Amino acid sequence: MIAEVIVDVAAHPIDRPFDYAIPNKLEPLTEPGMRVKVPFGNRKVLGFITNIKQTTELDSAKIKPIHELMDVVPVLTPELLELAKWMKEKTVCFEIDALQVMIPAALRAKYEKRFVLKASLEEIAPQLRPFFAKRPFVRASEAEEFFSQLKKEMDKGTIMADTDISQQTAVKKVRMIHIADSLEQLEAIEIRANAKQQLKLMEYMKANVGRAIESAQLQKEAGTTLPTIYSLVDKGAASISNMEAYRDPQLLAQIEKKESLSLTPAQQQAFDAIRRSLDTSRTFLLHGITGSGKTEIYLQSIDQVLKAGKEAIMLVPEISLTPQMTVRFKERFGDMVAVLHSGLSAGEKYDEWRKIQRGEVKVVVGARSAIFAPFQNLGLIILDEEHESSYKQDDSPRYHARDVAIWRSEFHQCPVILGSATPSLESYARAQKGVYELLVLEKRAQNQPLPNVEIIDMREELKKGNRSMFSVPLADAIRERLEKKEQVVLFLNKRGYSSFVLCRDCGTVMQCPNCDISLTYHRSTEMMKCHYCGYDEKVPTTCPECESQHIRFFGTGTQKVEEELAKVVPEARVLRMDVDTTRNKGAHEKILAAFGEGKADILLGTQMIAKGLDFPNITLVGVLSADTTLHLPDFRAAEKTYQLLTQVSGRAGRDKLPGTVYIQSYTPEHYAITLAKDQLFEPFYDQEMAMRRASGYPPYFYVVNIQFTHEDLMTVSEYAEQTVRYLNSQLSPSTIIIGPSASLIARVNNRYRYQCLIKYKKEPKLSEVLQQLIKIYRTEWLRKGATLSIDMNPTSV
Ligand code: ADP
Ligand code: ZN
Ligand code: ZN
Repeated sequence: MIAEVIVDVAAHPIDRPFDYAIPNKLEPLTEPGMRVKVPFGNRKVLGFITNIKQTTELDSAKIKPIHELMDVVPVLTPELLELAKWMKEKTVCFEIDALQVMIPAALRAKYEKRFVLKASLEEIAPQLRPFFAKRPFVRASEAEEFFSQLKKEMDKGTIMADTDISQQTAVKKVRMIHIADSLEQLEAIEIRANAKQQLKLMEYMKANVGRAIESAQLQKEAGTTLPTIYSLVDKGAASISNMEAYRDPQLLAQIEKKESLSLTPAQQQAFDAIRRSLDTSRTFLLHGITGSGKTEIYLQSIDQVLKAGKEAIMLVPEISLTPQMTVRFKERFGDMVAVLHSGLSAGEKYDEWRKIQRGEVKVVVGARSAIFAPFQNLGLIILDEEHESSYKQDDSPRYHARDVAIWRSEFHQCPVILGSATPSLESYARAQKGVYELLVLEKRAQNQPLPNVEIIDMREELKKGNRSMFSVPLADAIRERLEKKEQVVLFLNKRGYSSFVLCRDCGTVMQCPNCDISLTYHRSTEMMKCHYCGYDEKVPTTCPECESQHIRFFGTGTQKVEEELAKVVPEARVLRMDVDTTRNKGAHEKILAAFGEGKADILLGTQMIAKGLDFPNITLVGVLSADTTLHLPDFRAAEKTYQLLTQVSGRAGRDKLPGTVYIQSYTPEHYAITLAKDQLFEPFYDQEMAMRRASGYPPYFYVVNIQFTHEDLMTVSEYAEQTVRYLNSQLSPSTIIIGPSASLIARVNNRYRYQCLIKYKKEPKLSEVLQQLIKIYRTEWLRKGATLSIDMNPTSV
């Protein structure tokens, strides 16, 4: 039997499966979807079996055998193997990348260099013998000091260098002690009278005949030690085995089961439409304002799916995967829920994934990659906040979770629900065309009014001589809430605020030496850091250009606001939530919990706080500058601004108390701002679509972004120009190719970056041409040190 294997060698010029012989003794155990170790060139690499067949066209004498099977149960289902092929085609990636992204990191290969003994111990240098005495190889990391001797032995041929896949240690094991089944057996065991510890443990065992208990628990209960347990095990009083266990992230304390709410008429209508289509691959766009009860519809739809014996995937953007969200799902579905997000350790993620693989859970709530949950009988897929750009992975494989969801829904003949208060233009356009079915919730579930939104013209403030980042109305409103003991959320978009280091005499801004970008000042460490390559250095005391001592630095956005805020309301208790304060595991949850418990008056933060936050006492939301996203050089700038303002506003007045929102702006007349004020999505959609049509962007045109990098500026521009010439000669005349041009950030980590953009409506040859482009890259430009990346339907350009 022959296995077709996709191997983990990404730089290989040919992306296709390789044939390997399945050794006879492995034949009954081998299945597609398993990971294998296979020889490749002179090393061993990891691979995935994608197919098993009887014969090969290759010379059977040349076919190498599989070295080792890594799995007992396949890690990928036939469906996912199929999906990987589609992803390769659709996103122009290596098949191996598509396969790897579907499994938890704990199962991905880690390669390690090692030295293998090829002769007898006596033939090698005496210093090396202890290393090889235990096993026939040593890891490079274990024998660093002996490299020169190892090298000599390699020249003699007694030792060979080799690469191996390191042992995965992801499964957590606990030691179980099984106490003997009969009292007679225990009584027959002799223990010396002075072995007090053993006698004591024996007493415990006699009282617990036949019990299986975790070793740590036994030590606690019996007041004993591991060596004592071992000595009785040696005497036959008990046996030991290792048992697999799941890690418990313990983020959620006791959760009480909650019943479904009875739906409002609007919810009922949407729910009925979904329920009628549970056996079809229909895609619904659930357009409901924040607080309109979308989540309740998700929960009840999932409930239907579970009753039919099927499974469900619930995707949420990483940042809104708050404990609040998780709790709502656990309240409804208890232990049937697995949770996958970046806050878990690799081991915890692996455990959640195994619960899915084994069918021990029926629902997964997770971020983007949870779309690959290995369920075999899917009944529903939901993407909440479907417009979020985090659903698109920004390195290879550059897939969009929405596309994968629709592919899987066709495979399983089950529906997809895309939910949002501010649908992406692409999805809304599809709903308008009838490709998706539009479901609308116009009111909040408990009929709370929408918050009252005020737009503040910051130009007027400036005219009145107010240079602070807080307008007078916002500052007054904050003070008023504090007096009433209500809570305030202040939101700023980090990008718009200065966090650089500047010389006041010559105007020099401190730059990263490796990238064309200014360094970001971090007050907590007094360092300047590059967010692109990680370079950092201490803030200089004198300007490197003019030696002036007048160096001025600004705190990072949120820190700066915090300082100004202290001038407005010195007595306020402020919690700050940004990348700096949420670096540690669980910090995000802690800040939210503290705010929820009323331990602070004001929550100040970046994007992170725009979503998911659901506290009854928030009555004021302030957006410090609506302009910062609006002026990004990105065709989605207006759409993102509209989405952000709507989301942020949705945080106010979610319960009994009415909410007010203040939006500060220097361009208050922009339609993205004025229409977000009253959540007028349709007019916004119409206006923005007209803009997209005029400028030739999605959803009217499809876009492909191609990036080139190289250490040398001339080489990269030559490569980019050659590519554009090639594209022009191959693609149809109606397709527009923009560029090549230097990227917005023209150098990162000492590599120059160029890009070009393909815009097309219909381009049947595109896939073929891009594949050809990759071939040219691999045979010609890869060797020269260039990189090529192709991004189909980028989230921003
Ligand atoms: P969305 O997901 O659209 O933001 P949610 O499902 O979170 O909306 O609902 C907003 C609030 O309204 C929540 O507090 C929720 O418990 C409540 N809610 C939703 N549906 C109902 C209902 N049918 N009856 C009563 N309360 C509801
Ligand atoms: Zn200077
Ligand atoms: Zn840098």
